[in-house]
Amino acid sequence: MRALLDGVAAACVVVDGDDRPIWANRVALDMAGDTPIGTNRFLLAVAAAEEVRTARGSHEVRGTVRLPTDVGLIEREVVATALEGDAVLVSFAGATGRPGEDHGDELRARLEAMLEHTADMITVLDRDGTIRFSNAAAGRVTGLAGAEVNGRAAFDLIHPDDLPRVAEFYGSVLDHTGPAEPIEFRLRFADGSWHDVEATVNNLLGREGIDGLVVSMHDITERKAGEQRVESLLANITDIIVLLNREFEVTFATSSIARVIDAPPETNIGMSAFNDIHPDDLENTVTALTQVRDAELGSAVTVEVRLEAVPGSERWRWLEATAVNLLDDPTINGIVVTLRDVTERREAADQLRAAYEREKANAERLAELDRLKDDFLATVSHELRTPLASVVGFSELLRRSDIEEPVRSELLLRLVTSATEMRSMVDNLLDYSALEAGRIGLATSTVDLLTAAREAIDGLSHQLAAHDVELDGDGAVAVADPIGVGHIVRNLLTNAAKYSPAGTSIRVRVSSDDGHAALAVEDQGAGIHPGDIDRIFERFYRAPSASFAARGTGIGLNIARRYAELMGGTLMVVSTPGNGSTFTLRLPARG
Ligand code: ADP
Repeated sequence: MRALLDGVAAACVVVDGDDRPIWANRVALDMAGDTPIGTNRFLLAVAAAEEVRTARGSHEVRGTVRLPTDVGLIEREVVATALEGDAVLVSFAGATGRPGEDHGDELRARLEAMLEHTADMITVLDRDGTIRFSNAAAGRVTGLAGAEVNGRAAFDLIHPDDLPRVAEFYGSVLDHTGPAEPIEFRLRFADGSWHDVEATVNNLLGREGIDGLVVSMHDITERKAGEQRVESLLANITDIIVLLNREFEVTFATSSIARVIDAPPETNIGMSAFNDIHPDDLENTVTALTQVRDAELGSAVTVEVRLEAVPGSERWRWLEATAVNLLDDPTINGIVVTLRDVTERREAADQLRAAYEREKANAERLAELDRLKDDFLATVSHELRTPLASVVGFSELLRRSDIEEPVRSELLLRLVTSATEMRSMVDNLLDYSALEAGRIGLATSTVDLLTAAREAIDGLSHQLAAHDVELDGDGAVAVADPIGVGHIVRNLLTNAAKYSPAGTSIRVRVSSDDGHAALAVEDQGAGIHPGDIDRIFERFYRAPSASFAARGTGIGLNIARRYAELMGGTLMVVSTPGNGSTFTLRLPARG
């Protein structure tokens, strides 16, 4: 009989009295697959059919059995016939059975076609959420392949936190036939891990052959992780990223914007990109952004702008802004502006520039000083040689016995004048080097300025001979070093004589006012050019016109002012070109 049954086109299975499949013909084995008869889920399902048990009490029972296959449950019409003992012969039509009436095959054909075209996980659910079918992809990830998942509630696989949302969604899906909007939730996979999936549900309840909800899902765990990575990346970068629309309104800003704008990041949304920009940088910014907006996709521009932390705060930060036109990029749809705070960098650069300028000015000053020193040495040698030549010349003449009076007296006078001139020059040089070396020791006592002026005028009678010298004033008494005062006054008087024409007057006035004793020397010379006023007190400096006017070394006034300051006083000049100069020495007065 078995040989006979092997030959029929219908699938035949023999079940023993303990409901175990013990034999199957070729057709049934083809349908059942590889596993041994005793463990084959297909044959076990046949053996477990109600019809098998019922057939044992009667002769033959017909019925419909749902049988597990690789593509889910299929329905088969079966005929169970009682054999000897408790064995039962079950036979049913395979793919060769009556096609029009076999809904199982139809479903299988549809599902197989569907599976062929998708790598998505596909599950068919009953109205109550029971899994009726899972394709291979769904089976692989959930570990519940094919028909094994049948009878399990799909909601068991959904993360408890997502369940209420998904249940609500499922309710709304049941209300409408056809596809619904995709939904995301977490699904438990075979290894127990949770995966983010995006599911599309197509309500085909009542549709002949399927009558279920076709759920197609794909794993978006990677994508989600990627999105989260990007989000946390954006939240943690030091740069600021701002997205602008075509009208330059902010549509997105990373939270890092709080580093420059003193307000919650979201308050920037909808605002103009030009808000808070320094007025001086506005035009530049508008031009740059307009240019980049009107240029082609991917064009970029970089500007440096100042942004105010809080309107009216005057706290400006320098930002380097790079704008890229991605308006026509469908994933961005905007102008992407990357802002980097460069305030510190700019300040450091400014400081560096200022330090460089200072150094440069210093170097220039030193070079100038060097040049002046060279000039000074040349001048000193020259200036000393002239009176020295006179001294030598007059002395030679005087040695001759034929020189008679009054020529003799005149020569002697000239010799003394030249020697005095040399002495004052040498004195100045010695004072200068003593001052430079800090070796000037001042002996402070009271100095009557009127007396000091008179003595100086008397001592310089020869140099002042060509001028009309006037002295007036009250008894101003200074607390100072008498030698220092004499030095200053002589210097001022010599200069007044040197730099004003013969025949003009030199006026010396002594006065006292609130705690000071003053001595002013006023001449009617050419005066001092405003550009030279401060410089004449510098060492070695001589006004360009001075060399034509008189001999000199350019250190007299420098020494005089330093003496004045060492004594707690000042030496100032007021001069109008063409109208003479007035040098005023002010010293602390006796209390
Ligand atoms: P020197 O007279 O040896 O050149 P000083 O230090 O005494 O050096 O004076 C510096 C410069 O100041 C002079 O070269 C001259 O240009 C200017 N100066 C000084 N006194 C007068 C003055 N009374 N009138 C005009 N220029 C003056």
